Amino acid sequence: MNTRSLRFRITVWYASLLAGTLILFGASVYLGLERYLDWTLQRALAVECRTIATQLLSQFPAKDTAWLGREINEDYAPEVNGLFIRVSRQGTGVVYLSGAPKDGTFDPSHIPFPSEKEMDGSRKLQFDFGNRLLINSMTLAMPNGKRFIVESGAPYHQIEVALHGLLLTFAIYMPFVVSLAVAGGYWLMRRSLQPVDEITKRAEGITSTNLSERLPVIRTGDELERLSKSLNRMIERLDNAFQHINRFSADASHELRTPLTILQLELEGIAQNHRRDVSLGEQIGSALEETHRMSRIVESLLTISRLDAGEVKMDKSHLDLGELAASTAGEMKLLAEEKSISVRIQAGFGVEVAGDRVRLQQVVVNLIDNSIKYTPKGGTIEVRVGREGNNAVLEVSDNGLGIPAHDLPHVFERFYRADKARSRASGGAGLGLSIVKAICSAHHGDIQVSSQEGKGSTFRVELPLLQVFAHDGTGATLKET
Ligand code: ADP
Repeated sequence: MNTRSLRFRITVWYASLLAGTLILFGASVYLGLERYLDWTLQRALAVECRTIATQLLSQFPAKDTAWLGREINEDYAPEVNGLFIRVSRQGTGVVYLSGAPKDGTFDPSHIPFPSEKEMDGSRKLQFDFGNRLLINSMTLAMPNGKRFIVESGAPYHQIEVALHGLLLTFAIYMPFVVSLAVAGGYWLMRRSLQPVDEITKRAEGITSTNLSERLPVIRTGDELERLSKSLNRMIERLDNAFQHINRFSADASHELRTPLTILQLELEGIAQNHRRDVSLGEQIGSALEETHRMSRIVESLLTISRLDAGEVKMDKSHLDLGELAASTAGEMKLLAEEKSISVRIQAGFGVEVAGDRVRLQQVVVNLIDNSIKYTPKGGTIEVRVGREGNNAVLEVSDNGLGIPAHDLPHVFERFYRADKARSRASGGAGLGLSIVKAICSAHHGDIQVSSQEGKGSTFRVELPLLQVFAHDGTGATLKET
């Protein structure tokens, strides 16, 4: 799971907020209930005290203490109900004291008398094992000036049980509710962000060669629809700019062709007319060489611009890439031998692609030509053809000069020459690989390069296979060859 994804981050935020809110809600419910139960118990004890004072003690001295004891035991059964009741008279001491409760949580005889401050109020007493007792006390002044103190107490236990129950409910249900909300939230986020994944995937596939494609627009009227529409408008502007550049290069090259041809013809005419003038002949020869060079550049530029603009009609047919590479490399062996470079061919036949024979031949020629140019005497060039997955793969490797790492990403750019001096000396203008790339793209293929300076380079062309499995068993995978 990608922890940096929007989906994950929003879900975590949402889950934390929900958990925080639930904890806050739980805490306030717990505290509120605790206060409410405490208040209810206090009220019940106060009512008890008042009842004893008004209904029983008011009959004194007509009734005696034994009668009082019987009445209280009868009405409240303190031992059975776990209550504490004590009635004491100022000066003469305890008039009534309830017995120890059955569960033994406290001993009534050890409960201290309320201080003057605690009189007519409530207090809490703490016993061993965490047992607590809430006691309410009340004073009753008799007509003879004497005072009775009535105390009524009950253990806190019941309240604690209720509160523990609530806590347990929270502890069990809160993780469950949060997990449910997280799962639901994650699913919702996934659903609502799915269009973003689609837009991203489609945007990844858009390059300078397929700028006519557009991103999917999901008509929901939300921010994502706006985003995809703006991106599409941006791609359209890029498309227009690219087309403009391509058109400009194509038009410029096209316009240069005729004057260049005329210039060449004129120069050749002058050379013919002044055959005897050696120095003029040399000058014209050099000017002719330059015009030939210019013509080659203009032709290459025109080819690339037209290929990029999709204006070149490919004469596609079913052809065997292995056979094509082997025959082309065979023809170029002579050129390599002039530099004592050996050319090894490992081409698996039956590697069929749908392609334009002349253009694909140009790919092989350009790659081998480069290898010959940039490999010193005695070097080796290897041409391999095979299959990998659904692709036909052509590799041209050499053990020549190699390409510096910082030049590698640029070698397919127009007019890019890794080493200006050495490529110009070899007649290159930095357009050969651009043509190769444009041809590969026009065949829905790709080209990559790996190289180490001083050790050599490998150019790898991948084209979609026409047949994945060779029916005659002669096809080879690249690894086998
Ligand atoms: P050029 O016409 O200058 O050879 P390319 O487009 O064919 O232009 O190649 C671009 C640059 O890539 C070249 O200038 C050269 O520096 C480098 N290059 C191409 N192929 C090789 C190779 N096989 N070995 C070393 N460098 C290479």
